[in-house]
Amino acid sequence: METNINTSPKGLITANDMNIHFADEVVRHSGANLNKCYHCMTCAGGCPFSRATDFAPNSVIRLVQLGLKKEALECSTIWICVGCHTCSIQCPMGIDMAAIMDTLRHIAIKEGAAVAEPDILNFHRDVLHSIKHYGRTHKIEVMLRYKARKWEWFSDLGVGIKMLAKRKLHLRASKVESIDVIRKSFQPKQIRVAHE
Ligand code: SF4
Ligand code: SF4
Repeated sequence: METNINTSPKGLITANDMNIHFADEVVRHSGANLNKCYHCMTCAGGCPFSRATDFAPNSVIRLVQLGLKKEALECSTIWICVGCHTCSIQCPMGIDMAAIMDTLRHIAIKEGAAVAEPDILNFHRDVLHSIKHYGRTHKIEVMLRYKARKWEWFSDLGVGIKMLAKRKLHLRASKVESIDVIRKSFQPKQIRVAHE
């Protein structure tokens, strides 16, 4: 497994590399006390995607504990994580790793960090676009948007045809009745001022 921590020329992490407030920020936003992690690696062993990532789940926690903010926000793990909660359920310390990954994605977008897996972020955006318009995912449209961006029209064609034949894909989008309620959830939260 490759790592890409930027350290001093001697390979040491120096105080200058560390953001001492970062761990607190992640704990506050995620509600997960990552300081209780003692790196037993149960989460790493159970994660179905750990072979595809640059850092194991507990290594991401270690980056946060060490205040290596840039490395944590720019690693591929936070985007490859699908939020399946396998790690959160198995952790002996009850640490909600999935919530930590979610928080790191939020901070990465908010602070304009370099996204290690832009295709995955774009796919999330396509799914949200579909939900905003129909109240549910229109799978063909999501798939076509993804393919158009990648310019990969014919990959997965066989799977697509099989899914169409089994009526798992629908050419026409269907819209939920209460679409306005769904769309309201996409509006920025309004701060209500109480009048006396
Ligand atoms: S399972 Fe929990 S305690 Fe063990 S390494 Fe993962 S987060 Fe840390
Ligand atoms: S929630 Fe993410 S890190 Fe945890 S097991 Fe699932 S994919 Fe892996």
